[in-house]
Amino acid sequence: MIKSKPIRMCISCRKREPQKELVRLQNCDGKMVTYQGRGRSFYLCRECLHKEHVEKKIAKIAKVDLKSAEELIKELRSNGKN
Ligand SMILES: [Zn+2]
Repeated sequence: MIKSKPIRMCISCRKREPQKELVRLQNCDGKMVTYQGRGRSFYLCRECLHKEHVEKKIAKIAKVDLKSAEELIKELRSNGKN
């Protein structure tokens, strides 16, 4: 039997991808953080993670502080595995 993979949408480009291909983030009191296991989350595809000015776009859509978005994106980019 084939298990269906959960598909999620990238908040930035709206492309649909298997959940494991996306980076899961959330808005924690107005700051963008990686998913903490509870609360509302959103997803970002790896392609968008490396796009210029993606921080600004996400900050606007997810209503998070731009500075926190910039810092987290920078951290995720330098993670290597992305
Ligand atoms: Zn995307």
